Amino acid sequence: MRFLLVDDLDTMIRITKNVLSDLGYNDVITARNGEQAYQILNKGKIDFIISDWNMPVMNGIELLKKVKSTPKLADIPFLMMTAESEKEHIIEAIQAKVDQYLIKPFNQEMLGQKIGQALHKMGKNEG
Ligand SMILES: [Mg+2]
Repeated sequence: MRFLLVDDLDTMIRITKNVLSDLGYNDVITARNGEQAYQILNKGKIDFIISDWNMPVMNGIELLKKVKSTPKLADIPFLMMTAESEKEHIIEAIQAKVDQYLIKPFNQEMLGQKIGQALHKMGKNEG
């Protein structure tokens, strides 16, 4: 299973990649903003998107809206990872059809759970 991890912070990319690796997910492509991510999505096969919200150029909510309005990408599970815990943010993400929402900081168990829930919701098998 191939992940696309989108975050503008190197530290977050490194930490999240390590957590994914500990969870057994080693196929991870990274992007620094939504625009880069959207280009990668249109080029190749991605099975799961994990995206930060706050990023320059194109942020996570804009990426989410683009992905969910692109028929060939809409079925890819989308996990939004953000420090924004305000209700309005969560509602905005849900309205944009986010599959799962994870508030930073998170641990391995939380990320693993959210990935499992997103895959279950999309009717996909874990692993
Ligand atoms: Mg950020």
